[in-house]
Amino acid sequence: MGAFSFICPICGNSDENTIGKRNGKYYCRKCISFRGQEAASTEEQEKDVVWNLNYELTEEQARLSEDLLSNYQKRINSLVYAVCGSGKTEITLRVIAYALSKGKKVGFTVPRRDVIIELCDRFRNIFSKNTVALVYGGNSKILTADLICCTTHQLYRYPRYFDLLIIDEIDAFPFQDNEVLNTFFRRSVKGNYIMLSATPSRNFIDAFKKEGGHVLELFSRFHRYPLPVPEVFVLPKIIQKIKCYRLIKEYLKNGKFIFVFTPTIKICEELFDSLNFFIRGGNYVHSKRKNRERIIKDFKDKKIKYLITTAVLERGVTIKGLQVIVFQANHNIYSSDSLIQIAGRVGRKKEEPEGKVIFLTNENNVEIEKCIRTIEGANKNLQNLFKTHT
Ligand SMILES: [Zn+2]
Repeated sequence: MGAFSFICPICGNSDENTIGKRNGKYYCRKCISFRGQEAASTEEQEKDVVWNLNYELTEEQARLSEDLLSNYQKRINSLVYAVCGSGKTEITLRVIAYALSKGKKVGFTVPRRDVIIELCDRFRNIFSKNTVALVYGGNSKILTADLICCTTHQLYRYPRYFDLLIIDEIDAFPFQDNEVLNTFFRRSVKGNYIMLSATPSRNFIDAFKKEGGHVLELFSRFHRYPLPVPEVFVLPKIIQKIKCYRLIKEYLKNGKFIFVFTPTIKICEELFDSLNFFIRGGNYVHSKRKNRERIIKDFKDKKIKYLITTAVLERGVTIKGLQVIVFQANHNIYSSDSLIQIAGRVGRKKEEPEGKVIFLTNENNVEIEKCIRTIEGANKNLQNLFKTHT
């Protein structure tokens, strides 16, 4: 038997065990599920880019934004090592805007579909004068645009395509340890790439540096304090209400302010109705609530002591002495990422880094466990970092 020398032209696989033969021709079984239309190439054309961001970057975000831009201009790949919730998407806006203005092909990719859908929405608001395509399995009619948001599975449609490709959640399933997806990623980069990660392994960072990449670290939004690890109480739904009531009473006694996250508008209103009967001074907000902005402002001004909310407050609101309760944390509306975002509401003030995050749930599930593992991992990384820096 002669030496086996077939290499899959799509994913680079050359493992005999995953290569089949049909009608005398070899084919690759590893990437056979990735077949479909590829994106047509388009002309490079300079464009006007307007960049709308309705809040300011922190000093550290602004500095990293410039670093990413300068790396890109020098054709250096970057790895951003950022604790969860530190605003790593925001720091890529500057370099994206630059590349778009030069008519470069720009992509943003993540392993998970729900994450790319949400990101795409944000990019459409931020780069309102540009076209943004959203590509995932079952949604692939439009493949080209100024900015392409796609799942890592869809990268096979873009061979040697992107002048700038940004990938987030490199440590998330299913990207991590998936050779085919990794090959697609490398194959689709024509120019340079930026990787974003909350928990890159030491080996990964070392390998990345060896290839000439620059590692950047983003921490400041948490003032270098560890994130609170959520405490989980497994309780029947009805008891969760009572626990919630007791926690709020206790926090109020200590002069704290409280967010209670609820999964749906209905549950939000119901919970408020039952709590309001016993504890005055609260309010509730959700996407359909009138005067929402005013209520949130009143909460920030401490005229309201506790606020029952849906995920509308997942991002952005920071207040001193805040405690967070997540009601029905096992509800399928919560991903580990949204739970991490919610936990990140707490302890964001320098003067008061501690704060509690309580998950009330009927049962422990994968998302809750992953959220806790990620936060513990990030805290450990933070510790190691300061060990090596001091
Ligand atoms: Zn293949």
